[in-house]
Formats: sequence, C-alpha cells, structure tokens
Amino acid sequence: MQAQRTPLECIFSWVMEDQIECQGCHYKALRYEEGMDLCLPISKGFDQQGRPQVVASVQEALSLFTTREVMDGEDKFSCPCCSSKNG
Ligand SMILES: [Zn+2]
Repeated sequence: MQAQRTPLECIFSWVMEDQIECQGCHYKALRYEEGMDLCLPISKGFDQQGRPQVVASVQEALSLFTTREVMDGEDKFSCPCCSSKNG
C-alpha cells in the first residue's frame, strides 16, 4: 500500500537528479536528492551601489538554484569504480 501524500507534500516535495562524472575513470553516476522543502536563493548579490539584488520571479530563483553546484565535505562524490575522490 502506497503512502498517501497530502496536497501540500505534492507541491513542496521534490527530487533532484544529479549526474556526476568521475574525473579519474569517467564513470557516470546518477544521484537523487529528495527533499520536502525548497530553499530558493532570492538574492543575486549586490549591485555597484551595494544594494541587494533580489530575483524578479520564482522562475529566476529556480534557475539560480539549479545552476548551483557545490560539492564538498560529506557531499563529495566518491567513485564506486576507481574509488577516487573527486573535487
Ligand atoms: Zn572513477
């Protein structure tokens, strides 16, 4: 029996697919991350006068979110093929 999701969970839960390529042997791994809430960046940085630049739309925030690729510490990809640590 499948767990029923509330409408709110359907809206806010997400799965992100990440393709990672090993720098050592070019093994490609797919990684999925699932979450219940999405923390979107709403700030793009600062303009020349030092004022914060806020994104204009959810779409823009989403595109900022999906282009961010930071992998370090615990999150670092370890290749199951050649065990080389990437990054
Ligand atoms: Zn490898």
